[in-house]
Amino acid sequence: MNYYSLNKKAPDASFETAVRKGLAPDKGLYFPENISPLDDAFLNNIEKLSNVDIAFHAIKQFICPEIPEGDLKAIITDTLNFDFPIVQIEEGISTLELFHGPTMAFKDVGARFMARCLGYFNQDSTEEVTVLVATSGDTGGAVASGFLGVKGVRVVILYPSGKVSHVQEKQLTTLGQNITALEVDGTFDDCQDIVKRAFLDSDLTNQMALTSANSINVARWMPQMFYFMFAYKQLKHKNTPIVFSVPSGNFGNVCAGMLAQKLGLPFSHFIASNNANNVVQRYIESHQYNPLPSVQTISNAMDVGNPSNFIRIQELYNNDFEELKQNLSAYSFSDDETKAALLTIYKQSGYVADPHGAVGYLGCKSYKKEHPQAHTVFLETAHPTKFLDVVEEVIPKQIALPPQIQAVINKEKVATFVKNYSEFKSFLLEL
Ligand SMILES: *Cc1c(COP(=O)(O)O)cnc(C)c1O
Repeated sequence: MNYYSLNKKAPDASFETAVRKGLAPDKGLYFPENISPLDDAFLNNIEKLSNVDIAFHAIKQFICPEIPEGDLKAIITDTLNFDFPIVQIEEGISTLELFHGPTMAFKDVGARFMARCLGYFNQDSTEEVTVLVATSGDTGGAVASGFLGVKGVRVVILYPSGKVSHVQEKQLTTLGQNITALEVDGTFDDCQDIVKRAFLDSDLTNQMALTSANSINVARWMPQMFYFMFAYKQLKHKNTPIVFSVPSGNFGNVCAGMLAQKLGLPFSHFIASNNANNVVQRYIESHQYNPLPSVQTISNAMDVGNPSNFIRIQELYNNDFEELKQNLSAYSFSDDETKAALLTIYKQSGYVADPHGAVGYLGCKSYKKEHPQAHTVFLETAHPTKFLDVVEEVIPKQIALPPQIQAVINKEKVATFVKNYSEFKSFLLEL
């Protein structure tokens, strides 16, 4: 299948090119040229299929035969080696736990899938790809773990000094091999600016093939649709339409849910649950899209002022504002509301959520005020121990560290401190 640029000023690209480049030459995001609904037999029998079979069936139209079916299936099997359980929190509200992967963030699936696709394309190539990632915390860890040891790929992660959690920092800085961590004297926006500048710097691009591994990359974005299908598989017997509440930052995850819906999954509605960074909520209310600089919150993986995937959502709805509004509600919550929700969830059900999941829960609550019968599912996008300082401040209980976290917490941090773009550039040229 070909992918076109949403800026419409670049040639169509194969899946391989879209994965290798990340962004089209005209700086547009790539989008698949066809989205064909899945057959009824698949949808009717989904509860009898394994997760790997569901994922394979859903995504093969976008990737085969460029990657042959057998190889794609192997990539998916390797990517999805953990569970995606649904846990009921209260009547009409469940959570879909997406944090059972190696770094306990939902980004594990996209990062592992993309890494394995690049690894497949690099099998017979001597060309090395350098993946640059700016992270506010979770992306870096998932990408580092996903790409560890992948042939022909080296990964350089930029994270803001002192602004990621202790656990996240350990996940970024302790792997070694083909993974390098750069601790940037600045904010997440500064990290992102360095990465953007690098892509435009011919001194660098003449010497190395650069790509990015955030959700603008189709190989990270598309596999996120699997989660919504795994939820449907588990809830289908209830025979009630599902409303998903997705804690959103760059809007890749919720957009992947909408892609699943376009493929025929019978979801009834989406809720974009946001922290104070609420450009989409303001858009749904006013039809005005006015991005603002991001503000820092306790759900920091969603501190995004101008979500890069929103343009994909508009494409899915043919830029029809009314149709989008029918299908998407958006709410925004403060840090105080988020902390209160963490405590409420814990007191009512004994469940320990993380701050992002708590924002998702609040989205369900707001929606249910107007739709009391709705069956809502919020996505739990990270394990609470990744945000231990916030969670333990609110919840009167010590939270045990899961094995994935124990494995890194005492390892030694290795990171290079960089002050600015020129230090970064010299470092990269010598790497
Ligand atoms: C990245 C992330 C999000 C936001 O996902 P988007 O696809 O960028 O909207 C939410 N929660 C956590 C924990 C994350 O790491």
